Amino acid sequence: MSNARHCASCGKKYYPKAWNSYPEDDYIYDNGETTRFVVRPQDKRFHSLGCMKEFIAKNSIAFANLVDSISYNKIQDINNNQTIEKG
Ligand SMILES: [Zn+2]
Repeated sequence: MSNARHCASCGKKYYPKAWNSYPEDDYIYDNGETTRFVVRPQDKRFHSLGCMKEFIAKNSIAFANLVDSISYNKIQDINNNQTIEKG
């Protein structure tokens, strides 16, 4: 069984478990604590950072809607927490 996928932007064959596939894991360093955001191999869609950026630019309206829907949820969570703290 092959783990190969085709890049959602250029169609090139790539291997999500390899280091050069995107989105890639990211990290936040805060007060000596590291938080890691893991991107599972099955959730990677692009063979390069350039392809991911190109895809986002080509689909900027859909991408903006996605970001807004996620951001809206985060704002709701913050508001809910503030309500709980005040109550
Ligand atoms: Zn590509």
